[in-house]
Amino acid sequence: MSTTVSEVKHLIGTEWVASSDGDTFESRDPHDGSLLATVARGTADDGRAAIAAARTAFDDGPWPQMSPKERAAILHAVADNVDEHRDELAQLETRDGGKTITQSLHAEIPRVAHNFRFFADYVAMAGNEAYPDGDLFSYTLYPPAGVVSAISPWNAPLMLATWKIAPALAFGNTVVLKPAPQTPLTAHRFAELALEAGLPPGVLNVVQGFGGDAVAGPLTSDSRVDRITFTGSSATGVKILQAAAANHTPVSAEMGGKSANIIFADADLDVAVPKAIRAIFGGNGQVCLSGTRLLVQNSIREEFLERFTEEARNLKVGDPKDPASFMGPLIEEQHLEKVHGYVELAQEEGGKIITGGERLTGAEHKDGFYYPPTIITGLTNEARAAREEIFGPVETVLGFDTEEEALRITNDSPYGLAGMLFTQNLDRAHRMAARWKAGTVWINTFFERDLRLPFGGEGISGLGREGGQYSREFFTEPRAVTIRLQRSGADHD
Ligand code: NAD
Repeated sequence: MSTTVSEVKHLIGTEWVASSDGDTFESRDPHDGSLLATVARGTADDGRAAIAAARTAFDDGPWPQMSPKERAAILHAVADNVDEHRDELAQLETRDGGKTITQSLHAEIPRVAHNFRFFADYVAMAGNEAYPDGDLFSYTLYPPAGVVSAISPWNAPLMLATWKIAPALAFGNTVVLKPAPQTPLTAHRFAELALEAGLPPGVLNVVQGFGGDAVAGPLTSDSRVDRITFTGSSATGVKILQAAAANHTPVSAEMGGKSANIIFADADLDVAVPKAIRAIFGGNGQVCLSGTRLLVQNSIREEFLERFTEEARNLKVGDPKDPASFMGPLIEEQHLEKVHGYVELAQEEGGKIITGGERLTGAEHKDGFYYPPTIITGLTNEARAAREEIFGPVETVLGFDTEEEALRITNDSPYGLAGMLFTQNLDRAHRMAARWKAGTVWINTFFERDLRLPFGGEGISGLGREGGQYSREFFTEPRAVTIRLQRSGADHD
């Protein structure tokens, strides 16, 4: 089993190619800075070439013309090949992005295969509406939209890339994927595996590199692109929406979050404490859905905080390849500095650090970008550290007395991605879910997903929804067909 990829090129049509100007960049392991691969640094010309390949595969190739069942057979073969290479992909993901091996192996790479199986079957099984109405017979068709640009982030690289690619392909589109420059490896290896499994050439193209004027430029501004699906920060989302507007290209954008995790006094703390730990420190704190604002009812605040802090202090932060590690390194130096900058800002804003708050520099951590679980109290919801996305293992803890107050604080945010609520009062849970400004609300749990449900965010967290029928709306051009039937067939025999 190979767990290294030393040279990463673009996949354009049938060819693995270097960048048009030969430029490259390096992908390094955030645990120890070792060089993992030299990566083609895509130019705008590379982006345009990939779009042309995807366009040809869509306009002239068999993929959009295949029946959903024919496509599903190939997409299942892709999923099977991912499963067969699960260990290799998990190792690559962990080395490239610092995600713990436990998470890569048991959550993210299995979800890659699930993304493919789910959408292959969803499309094959989905029905169309039909409305017989006297002489009129109307129905809906869902032809594929065309060429899809998929732009993905570094924090769950292949899981999120395939959350876009799988539905786009299943509905009959062709794709140009641009992974994040911090984590190019698994997309590269995945594309090899997909071709090996029988995906026709040109149906999936992968370009590597950066945003703005580089390779991602044409992906958002070329008129030959029919859909843009983006996951990343809210700031980048604005730029993509502006670029897409010139061609009226529809955009689905899954962006940042600042989700509240609300713990009521009647919560089962044996459930709530470990879930709250997972909700903020899982994924090294670099998860869009994280419960970053912990709201604890004042009557149990002390008891909860004691248990929560104790568990946080005991988490093993270390080499992500070690199955005992709960957290690995942050993605890169610059990001660590941003996270630490927010911790310093929180102190200036009156916050008190209960645990963490300084970069880890011990023997195991000295060559990596390690930051400990950090808990901050004493802030109000007006503090910038409590309002802005930190995207690191930093929890700000706020108190509340009543349900109404908890809801007011929760919804007082420009973000609206997700939320968590721990209570044994189901009436309250339903009441709050109905009034919560968030695309997803979890009650007594966290991070569990049914891919049939809508996924996305309100406010600056998102535009549109994906998942099940919502992905169908986005990745197809729903078309109304109406036939006037002849009253009698006599004249037409
Ligand atoms: P980012 O916005 O910096 O980059 C995301 C992707 O966009 C990368 O591939 C990047 O190269 C590309 N990009 C950057 N500028 C571009 C431009 N002008 N045009 C086109 N593409 C451009 O985000 P990131 O730092 O990689 O990821 C972290 C962010 O992603 C966080 O804000 C996090 O909350 C968010 N996120 C959201 C979800 C969700 O489902 N809502 C999931 C994961 C991550």
